[in-house]
Amino acid sequence: MSKTATLYSLATNTIQSDLAALIDRLCQQASSPIPVFFRADDIGIPSSNFQQLITCFLRHKLPLCLATVPTWLTEKRLKILQDITGKNSSQWCWHQHGYQHRNFERKGKKQEFGPARAEHEIKRSLRLGKERLETLLGPEFQPIFTPPWNRCSRVTIKTLADLNFMALSRSDGPSRKRYQHFLISRSMLISIPGKNSQPPLDL
Ligand SMILES: [Zn+2]
Repeated sequence: MSKTATLYSLATNTIQSDLAALIDRLCQQASSPIPVFFRADDIGIPSSNFQQLITCFLRHKLPLCLATVPTWLTEKRLKILQDITGKNSSQWCWHQHGYQHRNFERKGKKQEFGPARAEHEIKRSLRLGKERLETLLGPEFQPIFTPPWNRCSRVTIKTLADLNFMALSRSDGPSRKRYQHFLISRSMLISIPGKNSQPPLDL
């Protein structure tokens, strides 16, 4: 089982010590300092889990990247989310997570922005998603892209550049030179217990 998978299945009562141990071990293995960042995916629908997550990061004054699905976010939902996060805080990095969070691949691993889609479709989805988040979030939106399932095609990477995205957060893969990458291939994916098991709050 991979490190990521191991951590993913941890129980809450050990996660603090296991996370600390994993960070220590990775730092010891590295030849240079490792930047560590935290990213929460699938943002857009208010839930009690979101509230707990933000409360935790507020308590510890830690920055958090909020990978937001454009078609899940509405004005009404954003108001509820920002009642929790507050507005215009540099603690949060609101950015784009796909467009619909839908798999288009017929075989192989899931991808929304994989080889199954034509370039013009990819460009349209990226552009619509960016425009939607820019409209809803205004200056709080950061032109950074996290592809669903942490993978995307070379065409997507080229298109992101055309649309003036500044960075990409994903698993390691092709075309690393074009962007500042925030790779997660050796990072720690943490599942919030009960994630996706509770219905969203009433809107
Ligand atoms: Zn996702």
